[in-house]
Amino acid sequence: MLSLNDQGLLRTKGYVNGAWRAAESGKSFPVTNPATGAVIADVSDMGAAETREAIDAANAALPAWKAKTAKERAAILRRWYDLILAAQEDLAQLMTAEQGKPLTESRGEVVYGASFIEWFAEEGKRAYGDVIPTFAGNKRIVVLKEAIGVVAAITPWNFPNAMITRKVAPALAAGCTVVVKPAEDTPLSALALAELAERAGFPAGVFNIVMGSDPAAIGTELTHSPIVRKVSFTGSTEVGKLLMRQAASTVKKVSLELGGNAPFIVFDDADLDEAVKGAMASKYRNAGQTCVCANRLLVQAGVYDAFAAKLAEAVKALKVGNGAEAGVTQGPLINADAIAKVEELMGDALEKGAKVALGGKRHELGGTFFEPTILTGITTEMRVAREEIFGPVAPLFKFETEEDAIRMANDTEFGLAAYFYSRDIGRVWRVAEKLEYGMVGINEGIISTEVAPFGGVKESGIGREGSKYGLDDFMEVKYLCVGLG
Ligand code: NAD
Repeated sequence: MLSLNDQGLLRTKGYVNGAWRAAESGKSFPVTNPATGAVIADVSDMGAAETREAIDAANAALPAWKAKTAKERAAILRRWYDLILAAQEDLAQLMTAEQGKPLTESRGEVVYGASFIEWFAEEGKRAYGDVIPTFAGNKRIVVLKEAIGVVAAITPWNFPNAMITRKVAPALAAGCTVVVKPAEDTPLSALALAELAERAGFPAGVFNIVMGSDPAAIGTELTHSPIVRKVSFTGSTEVGKLLMRQAASTVKKVSLELGGNAPFIVFDDADLDEAVKGAMASKYRNAGQTCVCANRLLVQAGVYDAFAAKLAEAVKALKVGNGAEAGVTQGPLINADAIAKVEELMGDALEKGAKVALGGKRHELGGTFFEPTILTGITTEMRVAREEIFGPVAPLFKFETEEDAIRMANDTEFGLAAYFYSRDIGRVWRVAEKLEYGMVGINEGIISTEVAPFGGVKESGIGREGSKYGLDDFMEVKYLCVGLG
């Protein structure tokens, strides 16, 4: 049993219409700690019926929530934010237990997740419309922004807290009501957020959570319901495409934050120590399980050996272990499928001629722990060049010219994040403009913040989260043509 300062944060039932709701079937499913394999809790195994109930609750709560002023909504959001920060340590312990990331990263995610609530509580007050100069003397043209309606949010396990707040905060600030479906590996962080939302005073039905071992049952209901007007999804490209097809049946708005294949380019003129620092943060954070993770390290020939040596030194200093233990910097992978995928991609690369410079196999701790790994001699026909690795494996490519680097970087159907290191101002602009990505880190490996638009192009997604653009994604534009008679 996980021991928290505030045991009330360990919730196991869904949250529907302001009440904790067990599955109609009475069934539950286990949530396990990936570091130990121990069951932390059994949570309600909900499905289509409970999802319909949550959608109806969100629909019933919508008119009153939408009618509140932005300032009134902001006051409740602000209380939620304060409660989350006050519970930081418990939320971090819960997250590390169900997700595996080191406690320092979990603490950071709680603060990062909360930052969206503070930001959007304020930004909701600035959802300005327009008055457009008229085309006729007896008419006036006004544009209003209105809450889109009931929103479905489907979130992944790699950021069990922040992927929820990044969707829910702008939706609630805009005046929408929400049904959240968290990932089945990490529902406890979501339920703890719901507990704190209840304490913050959100009216019943404004914020609902349903989870289940059959995500398709819940997803089908959310995407086909004519009541739900928007689906906001973060997860794999495969599931994103499926949800987009399903949402087409009722012409819903969709926001999709999908997979990436981030290039991390190190040019000859880079500050190599800074580049190594950036690569470590971008590649090995969350054991390589982030969508903006450096997936391909492209290094210019002149600095390839020096960069590889410095990177290996830094990687050797990582400490693998249970994220709840002090000093651990890399936890386990989320589950057996995740480690099997990493092994499969490694096997393919080695078969095609890649070399292991460091690590390369399951960690002696067993379970889903994998050694921090560096692969050299990578070529474009290897699967690691095309697919998201989602593990602590850094494949190093060598390139000769700036044109080569840009061509290699853009040679993917993904377009989420890209990174590059250079001290030449001309090159900085040239490369930044040519990279076909939604986000570009320049001499910087960590780019996520509530104040900037997060999102991808190509098959990495549609829409933006965070910043003023993130609020627009939950609002409709309504045009009023006022005849003066
Ligand atoms: P996933 O697509 O398997 O799962 C994501 C969510 O979708 C989970 O809640 C899951 O239960 C749900 N889901 C699965 N099948 C569904 C269905 N048929 N109908 C409805 N919901 C369904 O992805 P994952 O493996 O949990 O997460 C990793 C992926 O997420 C990676 O590809 C990663 O790049 C991506 N990701 C993207 C971002 C981003 O902002 N772009 C952020 C984090 C993760």
